[in-house]
Amino acid sequence: MHPEPIKKLIEYFTRLPGIGPRQAARFAYTLLDEDEATIKGFGEALADIAGSIERCGECHRTIQKDLSENSKCETCRTDKMEALLVVEKDQDLETIAKSGTWNNGFHVLGGTVSLMNEKTRVTERIRSLHKRINERTKAHSPLEVVLATSTTTEGDATALYIERVLEPFLLNGKVKVTRLARGISTGTEMEFADPQTLTNAIKDRK
Ligand SMILES: [Zn+2]
Repeated sequence: MHPEPIKKLIEYFTRLPGIGPRQAARFAYTLLDEDEATIKGFGEALADIAGSIERCGECHRTIQKDLSENSKCETCRTDKMEALLVVEKDQDLETIAKSGTWNNGFHVLGGTVSLMNEKTRVTERIRSLHKRINERTKAHSPLEVVLATSTTTEGDATALYIERVLEPFLLNGKVKVTRLARGISTGTEMEFADPQTLTNAIKDRK
């Protein structure tokens, strides 16, 4: 049996995607063999993400905690946004930043529709996307929503679902929904897309 503190750590590691109890135990015991400063540093790094990082209240990107700024990222604080790029994961933003093609708004879903039920993060973020578009198109117009989900079955299902949710906005012509051009091979998660291919897929979106 694992000692209690190790057991607790193992339980936390199993919350990470793709990590089962065996792998989690390996992580825990590997850490145990590190020197004390490393273990403490690890703990502090974890505490830091809770204390210094939060999410933009609009697009859900991570930002430095800044209580004076109303929890909005720089992009969401401007009124100049003409388009929103909808992505599944935080890591997708890195890939897009590397491609250097996008300097407009974002919306981070936090997963795909397979994780959807009444109370999930994805459900809430799709609701918040709807709300954002509603508010934006009242005040400014028009707005393009670019669906940049992965080219996996789940990513496609997510894009189709969002298209359906946004259908009412299409009627008044203020919102245009586009998807990335083909070119990113089927089954690719956006996080792993090649930046050059992604650049073309964004440019040629339709
Ligand atoms: Zn934002």
